[in-house]
Amino acid sequence: MRRLPIYFLIDVSESMVGEPIKQVEDGMRTIIQELRTDPYALETVFVSVIAFAGRAKSLSPLTELYKFYPPKFPIGGGTALGAALNYLMDDMERSVQKTTLEVKGDWKPIVFLFTDGTPTDDPTSAIEKWQRRYKTKCNMVCISIGDNADTNLLGKLSENVLRLNGTDEYSFKAFFKWVTASIKTSSVSVSDMGVDELKLAPLNGISLEKVDTERRSVVDENFVVLHGRCSNTRNRYLIKFAKRVGASDFLPNFSVLKYRLVGAYPIEEASFESLSDGLSNRNINTNDLMGVPTCPCCGNQYGLVVCECGNIMCSDGRTCSCPWCGMEGTLGDIQDGGMDITRGRG
Ligand SMILES: [Zn+2]
Ligand SMILES: [Zn+2]
Repeated sequence: MRRLPIYFLIDVSESMVGEPIKQVEDGMRTIIQELRTDPYALETVFVSVIAFAGRAKSLSPLTELYKFYPPKFPIGGGTALGAALNYLMDDMERSVQKTTLEVKGDWKPIVFLFTDGTPTDDPTSAIEKWQRRYKTKCNMVCISIGDNADTNLLGKLSENVLRLNGTDEYSFKAFFKWVTASIKTSSVSVSDMGVDELKLAPLNGISLEKVDTERRSVVDENFVVLHGRCSNTRNRYLIKFAKRVGASDFLPNFSVLKYRLVGAYPIEEASFESLSDGLSNRNINTNDLMGVPTCPCCGNQYGLVVCECGNIMCSDGRTCSCPWCGMEGTLGDIQDGGMDITRGRG
């Protein structure tokens, strides 16, 4: 049997924390449920999921539909697109059956790459390798989640670069329907006609648009993600802020850049570390941040208290001891709105 391998290469960098990663998780589940009811897909489609942040890792090897179990997505620090592409190419080398004189190999793999940011590594050599050896042997679809990805760069990987403009639940749901429909039509096309080409479903009715990759993309950071540690449970959590341009308090005709609280989310430390590149973070001034979360681990009222050591912890508003450096203090002494604190990257 000739398989139709479908790869999902999914950015799980810090900015994906919260709603986007939940939507991707739900979306993957929907895709699999839907495809399982389709006789063509059931016969040909095999699915593989690779997650990448500062490093890449497989969440599920190439698996037939009825055995596939939708994975839980981790979060990591960084967006190593180069490492992700190398990981994908190595996996294809091992897992995809090539056509030889004796056997007809697998159909051309379809790769769905989802990313919401710009690479934090140098992907040049991985992109060259992709162009030289894989681009014509695969059908890749690159999807920029929001307007933060470098679509010029994605244009080097594929002719199919699309942007998902809405990142609300409705847009994600429609988007995953589209992915499912595209996989279905492609599996019909290989099964019935033996035609090895990508059949993308029509884009009408969803906030997905084809991107002109020749046009220079101006990439700006939309999110700030800070790292906290709960002073009660010692668990790690991420605090996400979204960029908002607002009027200045002092000069009403001037706009200022502020970051508005989106939410705080517990993360699993070991899986976070295993997907992070460990590079140092940049700084942001807490004066630019609007809103303070409660601690997502223990419910403490103040989830963004900055210690003298520069790290963030939670506090009940009275005394606390820093879970990062051990320093004991009262909130008044350690809270300083103007202090520079370390922050995560896209
Ligand atoms: Zn806490
Ligand atoms: Zn400290």
